Amino acid sequence: MTITGEAIIDGVQERGAAGSFQAWDPSARAYLEPSFHMVTPEQIDRACASAGAAFDTFRATSDEQRAQFLDTVAEQILAIGDALIERAMLETGLPRVRLEGERGRTVGQLRLFATLLREGSWNDARLDTALPERTPPRPDLRMRLIGVGPVAVFAASNFPLAFSVAGGDTASAFAAGCPVVLKAHSAHPGTSELVGRAVTRAVAQCGLPAGVFALLTGTGNGIGQRLVAHPAIQAVGFTGSRSGGTALMAVAAARKQPIPVYAEMSSINPVFILPQALSARGAEIGKGFAASLTLGVGQFCTNPGLVLAIDGPGLDTFVAAASEALSGSQGAVMLNQGIADSYRKGVDALAGNEAVTTLARIDHQEGKGGAAFFRTTADEFVKRHELHDEVFGPASVLVVCRDAAQMREVAEVLEGQLTATLQIDGGDIGAARALLPALERKVGRILANGYPTGVEVSTAMVHGGPFPSTADGRSTSVGTGAIGRFLRPVCYQNLPAELLPEVLRDGNPLGVWRRLDGALTKD
Ligand code: NAP
Repeated sequence: MTITGEAIIDGVQERGAAGSFQAWDPSARAYLEPSFHMVTPEQIDRACASAGAAFDTFRATSDEQRAQFLDTVAEQILAIGDALIERAMLETGLPRVRLEGERGRTVGQLRLFATLLREGSWNDARLDTALPERTPPRPDLRMRLIGVGPVAVFAASNFPLAFSVAGGDTASAFAAGCPVVLKAHSAHPGTSELVGRAVTRAVAQCGLPAGVFALLTGTGNGIGQRLVAHPAIQAVGFTGSRSGGTALMAVAAARKQPIPVYAEMSSINPVFILPQALSARGAEIGKGFAASLTLGVGQFCTNPGLVLAIDGPGLDTFVAAASEALSGSQGAVMLNQGIADSYRKGVDALAGNEAVTTLARIDHQEGKGGAAFFRTTADEFVKRHELHDEVFGPASVLVVCRDAAQMREVAEVLEGQLTATLQIDGGDIGAARALLPALERKVGRILANGYPTGVEVSTAMVHGGPFPSTADGRSTSVGTGAIGRFLRPVCYQNLPAELLPEVLRDGNPLGVWRRLDGALTKD
């Protein structure tokens, strides 16, 4: 297998500028091919222009044609075989079993969106029949959703397959009929190129315009900023740091035509342990929490970076069980040098904070992330904003509250989060109910008696939340709801039948669920 470090534009692999970037190999702590090529500004512009030119043809495809395209992307990814897993292992340091699972998730996501397209209700077709006798008369009104236009997708470093080149953002944009210009993550360029070629093969095999997909390689803020500023781009999907996400939001807002940015950035995913659960299951919760915290070296956006408990029976048992499990865990290589360095800095800052005591800490080794667990009081947490920041990796802070009222006070000062977890037993229902209004305002997903890591890809899943967990808390980036980010409504008033899109025609020729004069029907 040859990796060339080349961009893919208009369906052709192209070498960029002489400048190069290096892919860190965390497992070998060495650098892979030292000369990956960087796209030039001219290539970025060309990729965006081609995406713009492909949009009308792509969105005019039938739902079945786009479903077949998504299925073909899935087949082409599987056809790469073990070479994809081996390359991803080398570039990310993630183990085979995790990457094989992630490949299954990636293929599953593509197929789930294909199923959504075949089912048809995503069109949200609405028909209000004309009422000519009414005063004033009501016109014939018909509405459906269409794709917003070309989408710039920034691949995530921490999901080299499921949130990268053909990940959830790309799959949902394609399903919506939007071409994708993909900014590969510099942490896994070879993996990106292999998947990029697979998508390109699927585009050609399905007879779609080459501009439906482009892969941009390289590193540096200039690439992403030029991409987001390009007038052809109509929306942005991003997973990464708060600084990166907010920088791109600023670029998008400063355009002559501002565009939406769906950035998933930072979340500390509080776990609330309520008194009866703490007293009855302190040790069990401690072990479960430690396992969730260290999963994937803590490099998940849903990592439990904050635990809240009320001082009382079971607290010491919980602390002892969690600390023991974390002290016995092994540090492991992190995704890239930058992430390992900022993890070390974040842990050092927590350990050095005068309001914090260290409960467990695995020594740092070059490139590795070891678990770290800290303790503070609710009084200090409320005062000190530096304790609210995400430390990306297996680090968490325990906040000890005086009582349920103080736990609610802490919930109120939290920033927006992807998740909140409740550890509750029967006697905790009242306290949990009192917490719910704050949690509903602050988070996208509330779960009970589990752990936030592990995000099901399904219809009801919400992987989103108020800022800064995401840029726009009205959306999800996981599950079929993710398509909504890249759609907008168009209403047709009194259009002749022959000008109407098929999904809105009389007689429901596509046989999909539609809202006819307010009532859902397939008639
Ligand atoms: P990142 O630094 O934000 O990079 C993500 C992507 O955005 C990359 O393609 C990057 O380009 C680009 N980018 C970053 N800043 C930009 C800017 N100012 N202008 C234009 N483009 C920009 O994220 P990362 O590399 O994945 O990880 C760094 C940190 O992000 C982690 O330590 C962690 O704190 C956080 N993170 C959070 C999550 C989460 O889900 N909450 C997930 C992953 C990472 P280049 O790579 O070419 O520079």
